[in-house]
Amino acid sequence: MSKAPEVLIVGGGAAGIIAARRAADSGARVTLLEKNERLGMKILISGGGKCNLTHAGSMEEIRRQFRPNEGRFLKPSFYRFTNHQFLEILHSRGLRSYVRPDGRIFPVDPANAKDVVALLTEYVEEAGVRIRYKSPVAGIDVTNGAVQGVRLDDGTTLRASRVIVCTGGSSFPATGTTGDGWRWLSDIGHTIVPLRAALAPMYLADVHADWSGVALRDVVLRARAGREGKEIAHWPGDLLFTHKGVSGPTALGVSREVAERDAGAVPSPSTLEADTIPARSFEDLHAAFRKELTDNPRRTAASLVTPYVPSRLVDPLLSAAGVAGDTRGSQFPAKALKKLVSTLKGWPLGDVRHVPLERGEVVAGGVSLDEVDPQTMQSKIVSGLYLCGEVLDIAGPVGGYNLQAAWSTGYVAGDAAAKSASQ
Ligand SMILES: Cc1cc2nc3c(=O)[nH]c(=O)nc-3n(C[C@H](O)[C@H](O)[C@H](O)COP(=O)(O)OP(=O)(O)OC[C@H]3O[C@@H](n4cnc5c(N)ncnc54)[C@H](O)[C@@H]3O)c2cc1C
Repeated sequence: MSKAPEVLIVGGGAAGIIAARRAADSGARVTLLEKNERLGMKILISGGGKCNLTHAGSMEEIRRQFRPNEGRFLKPSFYRFTNHQFLEILHSRGLRSYVRPDGRIFPVDPANAKDVVALLTEYVEEAGVRIRYKSPVAGIDVTNGAVQGVRLDDGTTLRASRVIVCTGGSSFPATGTTGDGWRWLSDIGHTIVPLRAALAPMYLADVHADWSGVALRDVVLRARAGREGKEIAHWPGDLLFTHKGVSGPTALGVSREVAERDAGAVPSPSTLEADTIPARSFEDLHAAFRKELTDNPRRTAASLVTPYVPSRLVDPLLSAAGVAGDTRGSQFPAKALKKLVSTLKGWPLGDVRHVPLERGEVVAGGVSLDEVDPQTMQSKIVSGLYLCGEVLDIAGPVGGYNLQAAWSTGYVAGDAAAKSASQ
């Protein structure tokens, strides 16, 4: 009887977990090497500890959330291992999930990310995968274009003709993701597309510490190429002011484009502005305010603004518009009214000073997708080497898309590595 093929997997995060189980189910002897003392450290902090498991859209809708080249690359794996297939793993083991109105899927309370990781750890263990914790890998051995195994930090070597690298990105390095994979992969000939922050908060040049903790709800945040410059990105949702700048879904949503632009030699930093009333046009709002001031001549500028921004931000917004809060209907200059409405529709929040890569939910950039076969996740540079998850040049928006990319590419890598090793 021939011996089962050996597959080594480096990195026990979202992609590595699914890859390990699939490789074991496909008949391989699997060793999963993880530098931490537990699996899925990043899953544990995902979705604020609740874990946004995936998204409820069709796989085509999910795919379209990624940039076109990323979506094309992900297509085969998204159809091989879908959101429903992943959820079935959880549901069949008793963990229930629910869909939020925006399509994001979470475990039903009180279950949370911890329960997801515990369940997935069991899922890997029950397939007979050998998990080696506290086993940081230091490099990959390659001879004549074929993988030979991996080198551990302690100097030992593990031999295998199939190795899957899923060491993730380099944000939140305390979770174990310190960009190790990119160093080895670059050494053995892979192109690493420049790493950039994505889904990250943004630090502003002029910080208003007293606004920290205040949120603007249901706004649209716009990023521009310099003051009055062309729009480079916008995102609807909530905006949170922090002690260093801005965060929340809108900030995360535009951060990748800002980080990409500001990484180049640009004449001026990107700037941000908030449309505080996106549902209404300038003209509509202007007409409504003018009527209000005519009907109620004692109405003040401050009272017009109050329904739309939190009380702590009323004075700052008026001051940005250059309008005194006690300006009344009877003496409201036409120019001032226009300025007030245009500030509500595009409140300048200032220059972006920095987008911290290490604070992002994902890192954009990584192994060039041109160098990986999307049908198998096998490297086109080194045979027997498979790559999956965030180590690849993939970064989706917030919404469960990034974990789905890790689950799906992990599945395909595990399957292909095990099957090719047994041929
Ligand atoms: C704060 C935060 C919240 C997030 N929330 C969500 C969410 O709700 N939904 C969503 O879809 N996505 C979310 N994400 C993104 C998501 O967590 C990642 O996209 C996903 O975990 C990537 O999976 P991965 O397997 O590629 O990498 P990871 O899950 O990061 O796993 C990589 C593993 O490799 C190990 N490793 C690294 N180097 C070595 C080495 N040298 N030797 C051995 N092991 C090594 C690491 O310790 C780690 O366990 C969030 C991310 C963050 C930071």
